Amino acid sequence: MKTKLFLNFAILLIILSVFAFSFSCTEKKDRVMTVNGWIDAETMGVTLPHEHIIVDWTGADSFQYGAWDKDSIILAVKPYFDEIKELGCQTFIDCTPSYMGRDPVVYKELSELTGINIIFAVGYYGAIDDKYTPQHAWQESSEEIALRWLDEWENGTHGTGIKPGIIKIGIPFDTTLSELHQKLVRAAASAHLQSGLTIVAHTGPGERAYEVLEILKEEGVSPEAFVWTHALLGTREDHNDIGRMGAWVSFDWVSTEQEDIQQLVENIKNMKDNDLLHKLLLSHDAGWYTIGEPGGGSIRPYTAIFTHLIPAMKEAGFTDDDISLIMEKNPQEAYAVKIRRI
Ligand SMILES: [Zn+2]
Repeated sequence: MKTKLFLNFAILLIILSVFAFSFSCTEKKDRVMTVNGWIDAETMGVTLPHEHIIVDWTGADSFQYGAWDKDSIILAVKPYFDEIKELGCQTFIDCTPSYMGRDPVVYKELSELTGINIIFAVGYYGAIDDKYTPQHAWQESSEEIALRWLDEWENGTHGTGIKPGIIKIGIPFDTTLSELHQKLVRAAASAHLQSGLTIVAHTGPGERAYEVLEILKEEGVSPEAFVWTHALLGTREDHNDIGRMGAWVSFDWVSTEQEDIQQLVENIKNMKDNDLLHKLLLSHDAGWYTIGEPGGGSIRPYTAIFTHLIPAMKEAGFTDDDISLIMEKNPQEAYAVKIRRI
C-alpha cells in the first residue's frame, strides 16, 4: 500500500515537472522587436541582418528628422523589397544609426506593404570624424547616453511609438578607440544590460573588434551580444578567434563580381572548416536611398546573396542546411532580445 502511494506520488511529481518544464520553455521563447512589435525569433525566416533603407549624410549638427518626403522614399525603395520578397527574404534589419536618416514611419509602411519584417537601430555612429555623433555625446556620461537610447526602447523613436530592435554604433577603422568611442561602446554595454538589445558595431579590422570586446568584458557583457560588423576587413585568424569567443562574425559586403564572390566563398569556407558556421552572419550593407539626391541616388539592390553568392556556395559544396543555418538560424539567435552577461 505504502509502495503504491509512493508510486502515485512519484508519477504526480513527474507530471508536474513536465508541465513546469514545458511552461518554462514557452515562457523563454526568443523574441525580436520589429516595427510592428514583438515576433517570435523562430518566425523570422530568411534574414538580411545588415542593410540600409535611407541615409542622410547631413551630419548630426544640422540633421532634421523627417526633412524628406516619406511617400517618394517608399515608392523608390519598395521595388527593392519586392525583389527580395520574391527571393524568399522574410526579415530585414536596417542598421542605420541615429542622426543618419532613420525613419520608423517609412519602415513600418514598407513592412506593411511587403509583409517583410523590419527591425531598426538606435545608437551613435562615431566613425567618419564623428560627424554623425551629436554634441551631447561629448558632454554626457555613457550612462546618460544609454538612457537616451533606452528611452527609445521604452517609448519609441521620434515620438512614433515604434521601437528599435538593435543597438548600432560605429567606431573608426583606422585608429585606436578615443575616449568618445570608448564611451559609445560603454553606453552600448549599459543599454544592452538594461534592454537585451544586441550590439551591432561598425568595427572593421580585428584589432578594433578586440578593443570593443575588451570593453564589453569590463562591463560584464558577453561576446554573444556583439556583432562584429565589416568583419571582412579582419583576417581569417581574427574570424576564427573572435567567433570562438562567441561573438557574431558579420560578412556584410556581397557584390556580383565573380572575384569578390570567390573570395567570400573562401572566407565562409574557412569558418566552416573551423566549425564556426554557427557564428556567421551574411548581408549586403546595401540600399541607401540618399536624402538630397534625386530619386534617392543610385540605390544598391539587396539581391547578390540570393542570385550570386548562394549558387556559388552550393557549387563549392555547401549544403542547404549550411545555408539555412547562416540565413535563418544564426540571425534568430544573434538578434533575439535577451540580456547576455559574461
Ligand atoms: Zn552598414
